[in-house]
Amino acid sequence: MNIDAIGGRVTVDEFWDCECDTNYIHRKITDIACSFCGATMIDMPDSMLDEILIYNGDSLDQWERAELVGFLTEEVRALKTSRVIELTDVQNRQVDIIHNAAYNAMCEVLVNVQEKTPEWNMEWIGEICDCLADIAWRYFGKTEMEVYPSIGTE
Ligand SMILES: [Zn+2]
Repeated sequence: MNIDAIGGRVTVDEFWDCECDTNYIHRKITDIACSFCGATMIDMPDSMLDEILIYNGDSLDQWERAELVGFLTEEVRALKTSRVIELTDVQNRQVDIIHNAAYNAMCEVLVNVQEKTPEWNMEWIGEICDCLADIAWRYFGKTEMEVYPSIGTE
């Protein structure tokens, strides 16, 4: 069994797709043509690995399944470590919310203690945010990515 990963398409050379809307995954060894749509193996592309697992998983023996799942797992791991992760708009908004909350909390604490409002400084704002994220985790079961999303490697 040969797995090819080209341009984000992960295909397995033991299977091919016909033109049917359903049940379009065929095993090359048993089907050289589809009796429903008439497509033939040589004209059609190899099947996608994830679709084989989802739609044709029952036809796999345990070794084939292990090989395909193993490949996917490796692939996901590689993606997680190599891809540059960017925050979504929703996450960026959440970062603004927690930064402002931290800054405003300090303003309120200092309101009767000093004349001026404190300057925006990410050093202490970040520290407060970390505390908030920690407390949100321990008391409310929220993950850091939920309350204080950040870009990080694993
Ligand atoms: Zn077909």
